[in-house]
Amino acid sequence: MSFRLLSSLSAKLRSVVYRAATVALIDMKKAQVVFVLGGPGSGKGTQCVRIVENYGYTHLSAGDLLRAERSREGSEFGQLIDNHIKDGKIVPFEITIKLLKKAMEETRRLDEKKIHFLIDGFPRNEENLQGWTTIMDGEADVKFVLFFDCSNEVCINRCVERGKSSGRTDDNRASLEKRIQTYLQSTRPVISLYEKQGKVRTVDASCAVDKVFANVKTILDKEI
Ligand code: UDP
Ligand code: MG
Repeated sequence: MSFRLLSSLSAKLRSVVYRAATVALIDMKKAQVVFVLGGPGSGKGTQCVRIVENYGYTHLSAGDLLRAERSREGSEFGQLIDNHIKDGKIVPFEITIKLLKKAMEETRRLDEKKIHFLIDGFPRNEENLQGWTTIMDGEADVKFVLFFDCSNEVCINRCVERGKSSGRTDDNRASLEKRIQTYLQSTRPVISLYEKQGKVRTVDASCAVDKVFANVKTILDKEI
């Protein structure tokens, strides 16, 4: 729009035009997403907290969002989520994606500059991934997958240890056996799919927190 045309418009109309242009620009800025995957207890949540402290990401844990929805008074999905979590099963994708989408929109509504998200513990199976692609394709780009690679034994021991204080209904050996099975059968194939696209950044997650974070930093510094 030329300057002459703009200046001929009334001040009010001019402000409306500017506002519309700004909104259009913000809309064009798709969310930039890093999926954070790895077995239960591989350190996803712990490392995400560190990443947030050091980089400008917003951390969204799919598990935390589901646990919050489970406890929300009046939630129609509370019981279903509860059963799935205890059994180490994956909650239907419509529920999880709705929660993630809402949390992303809320973050951006409060601060439009927040477009970088760490999505922790999702997508856990191919249905999750397909649902994400269908629902979120116009709104978010997946930059890469940060994969915390850790043996099942270390994962189980960490979660059992965490279970002494976490209060989580699934940090016990019976649930963990099922969670590990779900991880191996359903989540690993998702990681393999991204691997084929050259989009997986793998971190050895079996060492101490500081050491793992040093490796995470090396990866993120290259990506940003
Ligand atoms: N969960 C799910 N879909 C998700 C994320 C989590 O169904 O996208 C459920 C699933 O039952 C899982 C549990 O929530 O076992 C706990 O997930 P969380 O990511 O909190 O566990 P972590 O891997 O961090 O120990
Ligand atoms: Mg977690």
